[in-house]
Amino acid sequence: MSVQYVKGVGPKRAAKLKRLGIETIEDLLYYIPREYDDRSNFKRISQCIDGDKASLRVEVCGYPSKLRPRRNLSILKIPVKDSSGFANLVWFNQDYISNHFSLGDRIAVNGKISIRGNEIQIMNPVFEKEKGNRVGRIVPIYSLTNKLSNNEMVNIMRNAIRDYVEKLPEVLPKCLRDELKLLPIHRAIKGIHFPKNREEYLAARRRLAFEELLVLQLGLLLIKNRRADTRSGIKFPAIDGMNTFIDNLPFELTKAQKRVFKEIEADMKSKKQMNRLIQGDVGSGKTIVAILAMFKAWKSGYQSVMMVPTEILATQHYESISRFFSDYNISCALLTGSIPNREKEKILSDLKSGKIDVLVGTHAVIQENVEFARLGLAITDEQHRFGVEQRAVLTQKGINPDILVMTATPIPRTLALILYGDLDISIIDELPPGRKPVETYVVGLGMIDRVNSFVKKQLLLGRQAYIVCPLIEESDKLKARSAEELYVSLKDGVYREFKVGLLHGNMKAKEKESIMDSFKAGNLDVLISTTVIEVGVNVPNANIMIIYNAERFGLAQLHQLRGRIGRGQYQSYCVLINEGKTRISRERMRVLQKSNDGFYISEKDLELRGPGEFFGTRQHGIPDLKVANLFTDMDMLKIAQLKSKEILKEDYLLLSDEYLPLRQTIINMFKDRVNDLIFN
Ligand code: ADP
Ligand code: MG
Repeated sequence: MSVQYVKGVGPKRAAKLKRLGIETIEDLLYYIPREYDDRSNFKRISQCIDGDKASLRVEVCGYPSKLRPRRNLSILKIPVKDSSGFANLVWFNQDYISNHFSLGDRIAVNGKISIRGNEIQIMNPVFEKEKGNRVGRIVPIYSLTNKLSNNEMVNIMRNAIRDYVEKLPEVLPKCLRDELKLLPIHRAIKGIHFPKNREEYLAARRRLAFEELLVLQLGLLLIKNRRADTRSGIKFPAIDGMNTFIDNLPFELTKAQKRVFKEIEADMKSKKQMNRLIQGDVGSGKTIVAILAMFKAWKSGYQSVMMVPTEILATQHYESISRFFSDYNISCALLTGSIPNREKEKILSDLKSGKIDVLVGTHAVIQENVEFARLGLAITDEQHRFGVEQRAVLTQKGINPDILVMTATPIPRTLALILYGDLDISIIDELPPGRKPVETYVVGLGMIDRVNSFVKKQLLLGRQAYIVCPLIEESDKLKARSAEELYVSLKDGVYREFKVGLLHGNMKAKEKESIMDSFKAGNLDVLISTTVIEVGVNVPNANIMIIYNAERFGLAQLHQLRGRIGRGQYQSYCVLINEGKTRISRERMRVLQKSNDGFYISEKDLELRGPGEFFGTRQHGIPDLKVANLFTDMDMLKIAQLKSKEILKEDYLLLSDEYLPLRQTIINMFKDRVNDLIFN
């Protein structure tokens, strides 16, 4: 029903509400306050403290006085009292307010206290003669445009709740509410807007957050089930030669790698489409697992594609994949934005005719003109750098190819179930043997001379160093400039006896490649770089990483960067230059100093930064949540996950009367992805 039916909402206000996304009465009732102003505890005048906000019940005990200290300033004072003392209500440039008061009026006020000598002033207070919306209660504060005042909104909301809240459809089945002691919807909505006290607010919030998490989780499971149910994929045959290939690798697979590859093989063998996420800390050896899967696909007569976020990484993967496959007649190709057109056309036609078996590349591989003869396996590496849509486009390059996505941003399992809710998850929770943990130091800029002389000692021993420039958000251009400045000052300064290279995202691909090649070959001692080296890069002889302005990076990102070293036989050192002054920034740096465990680090990162900054949920295709918080409501999320599974087991299409309202709510929440739900 249109919001215009709510008392106090005419066409004008309806238009303003529409700007907030509120069109129906239900939209309005679900418009959750941003925060609350607790005006529920009345104080007495004698209890007032300078600078505090306070609610008071007072009586007007004298006539208004108006002062005009300057031409543009007038001060109105109204004397009031309660049984404990006297005070003045004070307004600036609002003399007309005096008309509202008569001697002896009893009023409730709320405002900031200012004590001047013996005079207690209540500055610019909101006031009410009778008990109403504004004083003496917890007042909801809404996010509004400047066209609509909070007070107007509170009045509208009060009317809407009085007249319509009982009509709100209940989504949660009664047995579930009883079991989890959740409020019915009308009480929750009332409680979230106008809680009488903190307990009422918490109970209301809990109910609404749970509903949101349940609906979210159910929706994601329905998407996943649809895949499992209706989309049959390729059934890869059992092949010879897999074991020989594994036995001939230059190293033995870790237990975790073996286990994860078994899981992948089982998926590939089955006739349902594989949708699997591999999570594994930096350096845990995800690439080789992907290579095994590609080998299996090739042996079975299918093509594979691997998409990665940067050209540098694409080149590197291409080279190492080609090396692993060099004893076989497997034809590999590299496709990035900077491949010359002539070459590109050849690659595209060879892909289409099936001459190419394995394609590695950047976003270039999902362009429209890229067509495969028989794509069987699509892999994305460093998935956290891509969005769901890009993954989806890659998938559509074949007829239900098996999907493998890899990420080194480890997140708690509960969250992974949400962010990658439509995927099965494998975890490589073991590093290859013989890795020496990186030693990490946090220092201030004042220590830079000592840091540099330490670096130089290592360089003289034949090692190499990365120096990462301060993080600049604005643009690639600015990033490039800051990198260039650092490069010039170091190259001609402290590191003038050494060979110093520069790498940033704004350089031509060929340039980047040749710099990276010289660094790999040991022709450069120091590589000064922006975060383009964050993912994937593998140069075992480099054992030092210096990161400027480390406080500006996310912890997970610092951990990734640090993952570039500690890849060879040498002890590695990471120096974080911290210029942050806050307690939080020191605490964050300490987390990295203390731990090399990506799971621990990302959990801490979530805790210290909050989930909003940790991941853009948009990127992950997760609908926006109004009440629930994926991190702080983790316990509730676990319950929601459990209950979703139970519910779907009982009624996997949600068609029974009990679950129909849930079904509709899911469709509303997933309006952008409705076609992915199993209902369709
Ligand atoms: P990530 O999981 O970060 O992508 P990589 O796949 O790049 O890690 O592997 C990091 C390094 O470890 C590579 O040089 C790779 O060859 C090596 N590696 C992978 N698995 C093993 C193993 N089982 N034993 C020894 N080295 C391994
Ligand atoms: Mg990798």
